[in-house]
Amino acid sequence: MMDFSTLCIHGNDDKYDRTGAVSVPIFQTATFTHPGVGQSTGYDYSRLQNPTREHLEKTLANLEQGIDAMAFSSGMAALALLMELFSPGDHIIASDDLYGGSHRLFHHISEKNGIDFDFVNTSDISQIEKGIKAGTKAVFVETPTNPMMQVTDIRAVSRLAKERGLLLIVDNTFLTPYYQKPLALGADIVLHSGTKFLGGHNDTLAGFLVVGDKDLSERLRFFYKTTGACLAPFDSWLLIRGIKTLPVRMERQQQSALQLARWLLTQKQVKAVHYVGLPSHPDYQLSQKQATGFGAMISFEVDKAETAERILSRVALIQYAESLGGVESLITYPMLQTHADVPKEEREAKGINERLLRLAVGLEAAEDLIADLQQAFSN
Ligand SMILES: *Cc1c(COP(=O)(O)O)cnc(C)c1O
Repeated sequence: MMDFSTLCIHGNDDKYDRTGAVSVPIFQTATFTHPGVGQSTGYDYSRLQNPTREHLEKTLANLEQGIDAMAFSSGMAALALLMELFSPGDHIIASDDLYGGSHRLFHHISEKNGIDFDFVNTSDISQIEKGIKAGTKAVFVETPTNPMMQVTDIRAVSRLAKERGLLLIVDNTFLTPYYQKPLALGADIVLHSGTKFLGGHNDTLAGFLVVGDKDLSERLRFFYKTTGACLAPFDSWLLIRGIKTLPVRMERQQQSALQLARWLLTQKQVKAVHYVGLPSHPDYQLSQKQATGFGAMISFEVDKAETAERILSRVALIQYAESLGGVESLITYPMLQTHADVPKEEREAKGINERLLRLAVGLEAAEDLIADLQQAFSN
């Protein structure tokens, strides 16, 4: 088996053309001719499959140690399709600290379609166990969570899920397969927003579902070709290109994140720093048991709402924008952006208040990022 870094570049060496092109071509075509009646080149119509997208999907399936990956036009499109596995009356237990868009999809679309949810702290396995009822079909976790950086023990939840006949779905957007491989830890389905670290350049949207099981692959592929939220050839190519540098970006972004987290700890206006890579983080050890790194996402709480607002309006190098995982560092105000649709009481109970900021560390020099924060913090 090749090293992960090599797989990012040669994770699928199938050849799609005869020119010897080193970079996979962008097959910008909607449809494919048939050589004769009842014959196919293997490609019929790009919603079903397109060689550029196929190259990307095979690469990602290899990186996640799955058997199949489907590439979508966004992370939310991947999640919306995933929900087609469930029927009215089904019940799902999900993390209570989720990407705001996932929360919105569950509450405003899936519930309308008769699927029922309970949101619990999945870091505490007894809460999952207590939540299981007759109609429970799946457990949905994000780990580390967004934005509070809580870690769920994937192996332990997978054992419980298998015992009780539930699917375990893991949103692996924050760590990517470079640092965490949920299928190898016992999960059934991995979800990604490819918009983030996998794409890595804040320039395109994408999403993925990855599975390790043939039956799940067949069921999801049927929904996939039927509903059509597939990733376009050019965007597939951008993801292929992004993934080639995933390991070096993750390493460097993580290194800078640790430096920034340590610096934040020394600031008087900072009341708490949530970064899984700090030994003081409550899930530091658990994280090392299931992941090979901590990622580059930090959230921190400042003393007052005014401080948060001042930082957001003063940062210059770091940009005040939603999203994460790209080469540009971004800062967000979860309360008003990613989690604006989560009811206030639920939000505040998790610590997502007017003093909480989230920082996605990019590839700029850590010293420059610290200097930028320094000037934004100063009165
Ligand atoms: C961004 C994000 C999503 C949604 O993905 P899009 O590509 O924005 O549709 C889902 N989960 C997590 C953890 C995310 O950060």
